[in-house]
Amino acid sequence: METKGASYSFTFREMKYLLFSKKKCPSCSGLLIKHKHYIVRTDMFDDSKTGNSVVKRDTPMKEWHYNFDCATCQSSFPLAELANKKG
Ligand SMILES: [Zn+2]
Repeated sequence: METKGASYSFTFREMKYLLFSKKKCPSCSGLLIKHKHYIVRTDMFDDSKTGNSVVKRDTPMKEWHYNFDCATCQSSFPLAELANKKG
């Protein structure tokens, strides 16, 4: 699947957490507030399909990330960390 311009690289777990889980702080059970932000990437990346070790991106790519901040204890958690905490 070709993606130009933007990239969402969620694992199944992360997607599931994002859609269905109660967003509670792992340290204090406070309310987590979702933040969406992106990183623009123009760097090299591995391309295992063509056998080339590195391929230059044609266009800068937005890579989206979610972060959750606790309203109570001010802790900040990346989505991946929260998703992988759940059993
Ligand atoms: Zn907290």
